[in-house]
Amino acid sequence: MQVARLHGPTDIRIAAEPEPPPPAAGEVTLTIGTVGLCGSDLHMYEAGRIGYTTLSRPVVLGHEFMGVVAALGDDALDGNHQPLELGQRVAVEPAVPCWRCELCENGHPNLCPNHYFYGLFPEDGALRERMNVSARNCFPLPDALSDEAGPLLETLGVAIHAIDLAKIRLASTVGVLGVGPVGLLITRLAVLAGASQVFAFDKFDWRLRKARDWGATHAFNVDECDPAGAVMEATGGRGVDVAIEAAWADHSVQQAADMARYGGRLVLVGIPPDDKLQLQHSVARRKGLTIMMSRRMKHTYPRAIELALAGKVKLEELVSHRYDLAQTAEAYASNLAYERGINKVILRVGT
Ligand SMILES: [Zn+2]
Ligand SMILES: [Zn+2]
Repeated sequence: MQVARLHGPTDIRIAAEPEPPPPAAGEVTLTIGTVGLCGSDLHMYEAGRIGYTTLSRPVVLGHEFMGVVAALGDDALDGNHQPLELGQRVAVEPAVPCWRCELCENGHPNLCPNHYFYGLFPEDGALRERMNVSARNCFPLPDALSDEAGPLLETLGVAIHAIDLAKIRLASTVGVLGVGPVGLLITRLAVLAGASQVFAFDKFDWRLRKARDWGATHAFNVDECDPAGAVMEATGGRGVDVAIEAAWADHSVQQAADMARYGGRLVLVGIPPDDKLQLQHSVARRKGLTIMMSRRMKHTYPRAIELALAGKVKLEELVSHRYDLAQTAEAYASNLAYERGINKVILRVGT
């Protein structure tokens, strides 16, 4: 089967590799349909590293994906504890927790210290024609959700978790720094959660337009304004109740703190390339900010599917570019270059 492997920074090669073995108990083999390209993949692609995880041998990227069940191991129960069936379309939650540690037992599988993650070194991801996955990580895709929506349920899950941490109250005000796919979904969910004003910030106008389409009341280009100044002006100097950072977590973290009100809440979702959090202590301290670090997601797939099915979040509208598996290197290069109009890139592996 064909596999796209990252050999080092910006070095993706397609090669034929052996098929996966028959699925073990609790596993299924999937024929991969579509894979989304994520900002976190770009870190690994550009630098061969994300946080303190460094590539030391070639890895297959791809953690946002859907596929079709091609073989069943024994006891292949899905994420809702229902038996999976051959031919079923499923979206896959990429983090596989141990389900038996203190954190898992306490309902925080996203914090499990014993987990592995499809598409994060050293675990291979979905940019290949077939792979074995944990059945429990599979969530059946209703017919009404397309193959392109499947991978975006992961992105939506990240946004749902951030919104859970944000504890948005009715009629509150929210700032979203960075409206790439995750930030756009956060913007949309903040609107759905009842925020009265949502301020979206980005450096790309096409993303800001989408943020407005999806209900942001204000949208500012960060290259043309001081984000905190813009918020203070619009809120009479008060600031927003919740500021959510969903960009590259560089100076945008400071901007988020600067635009939060006294006693406000900061939710940090973005991942900084240099693995450092930069925040002026006195600003956060004097405002008494509550700072939440968002770690992936938990228990979000069923909710993500409901939101997409109800038409409250239009996942396909995020897809801007489509490539085949053979064009994986090109897809990554164009995403890293932030080609005009780029939003979510989808790789079609088997559909
Ligand atoms: Zn992702
Ligand atoms: Zn665990």
